[in-house]
Amino acid sequence: MTSDFHPSPLAFEPSKFTRPFWDACRRHVLQAASCNACSHLFLPAGPVCPQCWSADLGAEALSGRGEIAAFTIYRQAYHPDYPVPYVIALIALKEGPRLISNIVGCAPESVASGMSVTVRFASRGEFVLPLFVPAMAEDSNDA
Ligand SMILES: [Zn+2]
Repeated sequence: MTSDFHPSPLAFEPSKFTRPFWDACRRHVLQAASCNACSHLFLPAGPVCPQCWSADLGAEALSGRGEIAAFTIYRQAYHPDYPVPYVIALIALKEGPRLISNIVGCAPESVASGMSVTVRFASRGEFVLPLFVPAMAEDSNDA
């Protein structure tokens, strides 16, 4: 092994519970696990509803819109495929579930808690990732 060996941070195998989420991302659909017993929406998907413990689960497509609940700006590089600075954020999705992702399409210094964001899908190797951009930037791209 040389010092140039950098295994991909995305070299993982989705579980039978999380695979539907990643398959939906390939279709550019952000979806949450849904509980057929109590209607709770949650991420990541798992074997039971974290609210009522029912195993009667489905999936529901989300709007892809939300707000930044918390964030940090990474200034230390941990992998050559991820040049700094970049933003890791906890996103409170409009429908309730929370998701950790990157904020892209803006200067890291412009990111703020409470900022409205919308999903933008990006291919990374064999995965399609749900990244987020400021909602204003997404709106201007629609024009
Ligand atoms: Zn439930």
